[in-house]
Amino acid sequence: MGTTYKYKTNKKILPSLSFLLPVINGYRNGIGTDQHKYALTEKELKEGCLFKLGGVKIPNIKVLSNSDGDVVYHALWDAISSAIGGSSIGKTYPKDNRSSDVFLKELKEIMDEQGYAINNISIVIECTKPKILPIEEEMKKNIAEIFKINLDQIGITAKSGEGLTEFGKGKGVEAIVNVSLFRY
Ligand SMILES: [Zn+2]
Repeated sequence: MGTTYKYKTNKKILPSLSFLLPVINGYRNGIGTDQHKYALTEKELKEGCLFKLGGVKIPNIKVLSNSDGDVVYHALWDAISSAIGGSSIGKTYPKDNRSSDVFLKELKEIMDEQGYAINNISIVIECTKPKILPIEEEMKKNIAEIFKINLDQIGITAKSGEGLTEFGKGKGVEAIVNVSLFRY
């Protein structure tokens, strides 16, 4: 991480009063977006990399990205980082081609160190392909596993773009993520 996070956490409170911690320490809210272009031309297909969405491998689609083009993970990373006063994923991991779950796991470690927990995650995905509904549950499980939260703390909605945007025309994919955190 390029950023140094210096926050005090309050771990001295009695366990029985732990429900008060969000009230004492406050809630945080963050938003993140990410877009990646699908490899469509012959040249792009040669350069493109294997695509993942919410940690789910998507066959038959290649993206133009340094890593796996996982817009859900990248937007989620930015949303959480934004909520705790951090930088963007692009600045933190320039030209890093590791799998995107590594970035989220490193961010989870920072959250643990600083005493942040997830309240809920709200995700919007806009694309014409892949179909989101068949992979929605698996994406939720992947995210829940990384952050040690319940599936009902994650909401995923899909938009087709109605042919109006580049994503709605099948040229790529976009994710918009809103996250609510609290400190303990
Ligand atoms: Zn990205």
